[in-house]
Amino acid sequence: MPTTPSALRPSTVPPALPRHETRETRPAAALLRTWDREHVWHAFTQMQEYEPLLIERGEGSWLIDTDGRRYLDGSASMWCNVHGHRHPRLDKALVEQAGRVAHTTNLGLSNPTTVEFARRLVELSPPGLEKVFFSGDGSSAIETALKMAFQYWTQTAPPQPARTRFIAIGEAYHGDTLGAIGVGGVDRFTAMFAPLTFEAIRVPSPGGPCPATGNPAPSLAESLATVERVFTEHAGTVAALIMEPLVQAAAGIYVHPPGFLRGVADICRRHDGLLILDEVAVGFGRTGTMFACEQEEVSPDFLCLAKGLTAGYLPMAATLTTERVWNAFLGQHTDRRTFFHGHTYGGNPLAAAVGLASLDIFRDEQVLASLPPKIERLRGHAERLARLEHVGGVRQCGLLVGFDIVADKATAMAYPWQEKRGMQACLAARRHGALLRPLGDVVVIMPPLSISLDELDALAAATEAGIREATA
Ligand code: PLP
Repeated sequence: MPTTPSALRPSTVPPALPRHETRETRPAAALLRTWDREHVWHAFTQMQEYEPLLIERGEGSWLIDTDGRRYLDGSASMWCNVHGHRHPRLDKALVEQAGRVAHTTNLGLSNPTTVEFARRLVELSPPGLEKVFFSGDGSSAIETALKMAFQYWTQTAPPQPARTRFIAIGEAYHGDTLGAIGVGGVDRFTAMFAPLTFEAIRVPSPGGPCPATGNPAPSLAESLATVERVFTEHAGTVAALIMEPLVQAAAGIYVHPPGFLRGVADICRRHDGLLILDEVAVGFGRTGTMFACEQEEVSPDFLCLAKGLTAGYLPMAATLTTERVWNAFLGQHTDRRTFFHGHTYGGNPLAAAVGLASLDIFRDEQVLASLPPKIERLRGHAERLARLEHVGGVRQCGLLVGFDIVADKATAMAYPWQEKRGMQACLAARRHGALLRPLGDVVVIMPPLSISLDELDALAAATEAGIREATA
């Protein structure tokens, strides 16, 4: 009989975990909550304070927990759900693709579904974007764009290897991997890791101000003048400028003044800097158009997509780029111009199948045409909530709105951050049947695009109740 070396033998033999292959034999909710607390390390969550809530099912705009309680999905399951949960066409596309093949690598190999999806994305995206590099999440889409932009300058003719710097906007958020936090500017997410990242050139955002920082926002003219000056000061060393078009979401829903995106794009062109647009949060209808950059008729050199790419069903991201960039990478393998970067699940066909079905839904259900009345209804609610005693500011862009929760409305004085009023408001809203996720003391409503007007009313009512309770 084989023996285990005593050094490897556990001191106590752990009990065998029950097998739960079918739903009928799944452990009870209470036990799952215990296991959740014991074993699952949740993102952006202080685990010592974590209170489990297990969502078992979804139906349209609703999420249903293991005790059968129903909640409106007010954050579109972290900003990615588009057509609601369990859309029959998305479910069907997923099952059908699983019946063919679940995964094939895209390292030198392809599959029909992913190819078709790439083609549809190219047809849909702003002119000039013809090449699609697939990865797994928003941060990876950003890493891809940063690395491609960097490598591009070493291989273009003539090479400009001094172009190594990136310009980023104020409190930008581009994800949590090291490259993405290098161009990120939300201090509470990035400061800890600063020694590990490269330093971006930062220009202030014209989208604030926010009680969290207290800095007044620069005007449109001042912001554009700064971008121009920074390009001039760093002449010949800027690889690319990266920004979230129209609205910086995770910063606290900082909506840019009209013309900022267009102005920045023009400056990039004049200085021959590449433009990376991060539409991870706003792509696929969130701002009222398919892509936010359409609203200012901007075609970037890189367009980063994730979240809504698969309607919020499966992890997938895409970095779209131009023929100009692509050409700089062509050559014999001995020329060493290959882009040595990739992810195991990039181009996964299950995700691509759902992404294709999502684009069909956009077309067949006239999703974009359905948005204006919803955006107007949300505006009405936002104006009402703006009158609440402790709402200091409201910023809306399409079907996305943020409310600043403040201690004093007249002076816009923030609550002490330790009191977590934004989180308190969201937890209170949960008791009124809505799931929301705050950004510090900014309470955010960002529902699936498919939400009905009645559901939007209920969501706004729960949000209002939550804010009132947390600030009473
Ligand atoms: N970029 C933006 C604008 C985002 O809002 C996010 C996530 O919220 C990301 C990038 C990162 O995406 P992911 O969380 O999928 O890595």
